[in-house]
Amino acid sequence: MSSDDEIVVLTGGGRGNIPGSRRYNCTQCGKKIWLAPSGQSLMAAKPDILLLCMACSRQAAAREPDVKYGVTRAALREFDAWKKRN
Ligand SMILES: [Zn+2]
Repeated sequence: MSSDDEIVVLTGGGRGNIPGSRRYNCTQCGKKIWLAPSGQSLMAAKPDILLLCMACSRQAAAREPDVKYGVTRAALREFDAWKKRN
């Protein structure tokens, strides 16, 4: 993995808490993960990004300190906004 790769980290504890989330497979281990709408649009724009579950993304971050997290903050904002409405 090069530091140019982007990592997408899922939020919501694997239960699709964010409305509009869809299930995908972790690029690395194949585990089912939820992708928030912001991640889905990122995937549409950059189809070759890595899609990693929390465990795999932590491993990747340990190997590659400057790895990028493409969607974490946006997904967290979506989750926060959803929590406030519910
Ligand atoms: Zn994984």
